[in-house]
Amino acid sequence: MSEIIKEQVRVAIVGAGPAGIGAAIGLARRGVAPVLLLDRWDKPGGIPAKYSAEAGGVRTYVQPARGRVLHGQQFVDHLLDRLASTEVELRLECTVLELNAERRELTVVDPMHGKTRIAADAIVLATGAREETAVERGWIAGGRDGHRLQTMQLLQLSGRGKRLSWGQPVVAGSDLIAYAAAAKLMASGAPLVRMVDTSTRPRASWFARWYFRRWGRPEWQCENSLNVSPREGDSRIWQLRFQNDRPIPCDALIVSGHLVPNAELLVEARLETRTPLHLPVTGACSQLSAPGCFATGNLLGGFHGGSWCTQSGLRVAKAVSRYLEACPESAKPTW
Ligand SMILES: Cc1cc2nc3c(=O)[nH]c(=O)nc-3n(C[C@H](O)[C@H](O)[C@H](O)COP(=O)(O)OP(=O)(O)OC[C@H]3O[C@@H](n4cnc5c(N)ncnc54)[C@H](O)[C@@H]3O)c2cc1C
Repeated sequence: MSEIIKEQVRVAIVGAGPAGIGAAIGLARRGVAPVLLLDRWDKPGGIPAKYSAEAGGVRTYVQPARGRVLHGQQFVDHLLDRLASTEVELRLECTVLELNAERRELTVVDPMHGKTRIAADAIVLATGAREETAVERGWIAGGRDGHRLQTMQLLQLSGRGKRLSWGQPVVAGSDLIAYAAAAKLMASGAPLVRMVDTSTRPRASWFARWYFRRWGRPEWQCENSLNVSPREGDSRIWQLRFQNDRPIPCDALIVSGHLVPNAELLVEARLETRTPLHLPVTGACSQLSAPGCFATGNLLGGFHGGSWCTQSGLRVAKAVSRYLEACPESAKPTW
């Protein structure tokens, strides 16, 4: 069996989304090196990198400081310009499988090196959040099919420059992400988008609803419970049935929002989290329950936009550099 490669860095950051990139820029500014930024995807930027910049498309990311609203990819490009002027090493297609919080050690796998073990004086977790599935939300029993998507899958489809051909899509959920999804559908030609949720009012802020109105207005519907089943004789078209049994025709269902932290690494490392969502328990300055381990961005819960997450990364960088000042350089580990 081949020997596992071992590396030692000052700080390892897991996740190259807005928060991880913000943390890396902040650490570089404070003279902390070497810093290693890891991501499992083949391009950096996290969720906003999925919102590619297409002409006439929907702009949903606010640029920090200047307040301009940009396409996700443009927002990421600004961050990457700032990252390029630092010595931070960005390693892509690199999945962190395990975290040993006590030893501050990561087990990582990537196609070039196979399995690697990386020890660091401090570790920053910036693994973001994911959407709860319709099954997790108790809305739909059973598996997935081509006409039932999460917002993320909608982004991936429209990001490839394809025009979506649905005539009666329904968005389940009504928070910021749901309105961004409805705007995407309307921008790509859907004549009518219905939005349903179990809350009495849309969950998105007044500002978000006003902002997305320029792409059209989804038809809002509040329902006590949601139940989705295929229409008899046609497996492509769905029918949504609500508690009062009034069916709504629908040729695509986008299940949106309700973010939960991507907290698998924390849970597995037995770092303290608050159930049921596994929100990380943090002390002062986003320090996790093991010394030298920090969390930032949407992993912290509360679920914010990209610019807030970048600021959160910059803030955690300050906390990490303070921690490192008090911690002798590479005192551990003994392999
Ligand atoms: C579907 C969806 C749509 C959204 N739409 C908007 C929007 O329109 N406007 C807006 O302002 N905000 C939106 N948001 C909020 C968005 O999450 C934040 O804007 C921002 O991207 C969060 O930054 P982050 O760095 O915390 O996490 P993310 O952007 O999620 O980045 C986390 C990164 O960590 C990596 N990662 C995770 N686990 C591992 C691992 N084990 N090993 C290696 N890498 C790992 C992931 O690959 C990812 O690149 C949306 C969120 C979701 C889920």
